[in-house]
Amino acid sequence: MKVLIVGAGVVGLSTAWALARAGHEPVVFDQGPIPNPLAASFDQHRMIRYHYGDQTGYARMMHDAYAAWETLWANLGARHGAETGVLAISTVPGDWTDQSKATFDDLGAPYQVLDAPEVHELYPHLRVPEEAWGLLTKGGGVLFADRIVTGLARHLSERGVALNPETRVTGLDAEAATVTFGDGTRATGDAVVVAAGAWIDKLCPKFAGTTQSIRSVVTYVAPPAHFADAWARGPALFITTGQGTLYCLPPVDGCGLKLGGAPLLAPGDPDVPRHVTDAEAQQILASYAPFLRDAESYGIQESIACCYADNGLKRFVVERVGRTLIVGNCGGRMFKFGALMGQEVASAVADGRNISGLAAWAAGAPASDAAAEA
Ligand SMILES: Cc1cc2nc3c(=O)[nH]c(=O)nc-3n(C[C@H](O)[C@H](O)[C@H](O)COP(=O)(O)OP(=O)(O)OC[C@H]3O[C@@H](n4cnc5c(N)ncnc54)[C@H](O)[C@@H]3O)c2cc1C
Repeated sequence: MKVLIVGAGVVGLSTAWALARAGHEPVVFDQGPIPNPLAASFDQHRMIRYHYGDQTGYARMMHDAYAAWETLWANLGARHGAETGVLAISTVPGDWTDQSKATFDDLGAPYQVLDAPEVHELYPHLRVPEEAWGLLTKGGGVLFADRIVTGLARHLSERGVALNPETRVTGLDAEAATVTFGDGTRATGDAVVVAAGAWIDKLCPKFAGTTQSIRSVVTYVAPPAHFADAWARGPALFITTGQGTLYCLPPVDGCGLKLGGAPLLAPGDPDVPRHVTDAEAQQILASYAPFLRDAESYGIQESIACCYADNGLKRFVVERVGRTLIVGNCGGRMFKFGALMGQEVASAVADGRNISGLAAWAAGAPASDAAAEA
């Protein structure tokens, strides 16, 4: 089966990988290089975590997400992730961290609760309010995102999969499984998969008005020398504050110490140049200051603006239109599910099966609901 894939981020490349493994003929198109540094899937690292607030469906999916990564590591001959553990800090009763704990209890998942003095003892680089507490999992950590998409592209190319960089798809006939390019030429397959990330509404107008491209800024910082080791050995962090969520990825295996989250999330066109101002970088660092010991000693190294598509529901969308399957609304959360989503989408495309179960699963429905929909 010939499947045209629009978009070479983690979803498109993983779908191509799973289709090729199953003996199909994926053909991948990206408007930029493959991999594309402007894609949401391209950064030093992304977090993989069990904590999912009250979204039990996604917390439950983590087991399968890890299994999919293991299959990918075996195929690539390299493991592109590190288990650093994940620590979520609760600052307000009933917040997302509190909800995550309740979900762990429901699922019987292992965790450790740390009070504020224990957080300070274990992680001397952190500073949390007296009433705060931490929810620590030994599992979870980081995925080396740019190494994964680069490794996937190389693997696909070595397998003879057609990768077409610098090839923007400007039109889609979903029923006919035909895509049109800027020069007016066309390609037709047995099916199309659209995995266009933040650009989805430009290609699929039905997403315009519901899904928005969100510009998100992350800042890489150098910690003070006396905390370098604590950071390098420490967990990935999630801090729920009254102003939104902050997340922080530790400097492991050659990656930098990354700060991201709430202060700088706003609608932004992915085709607008991605310049980050010094003031924005300072704003990110300032939002962490209450939680970092010696915050004034951190130095900003580099900042990146990245775009993802979201409709505010924090739930993935998988839709079939004619012979086309569209994966959308990946938000700030899809990377960890990338390999798994690729496997699921590939099998739905190849089977041509009813995708209501897949759609419910992708939306994070509890397992029983997803099965009932299937
Ligand atoms: C700052 C930031 C932090 C994040 N942190 C995390 C995290 O810690 N953990 C996590 O799990 N997730 C995280 N995410 C989310 C995750 O990175 C994304 O959900 C995921 O990478 C989306 O993958 P994708 O393949 O759908 O889209 P993308 O990676 O954006 O890929 C889409 C591709 O489609 C191409 N394209 C678009 N339109 C066309 C067209 N018309 N023709 C040809 N090509 C086209 C684009 O060029 C692009 O290469 C984060 C995202 C951001 C932005």
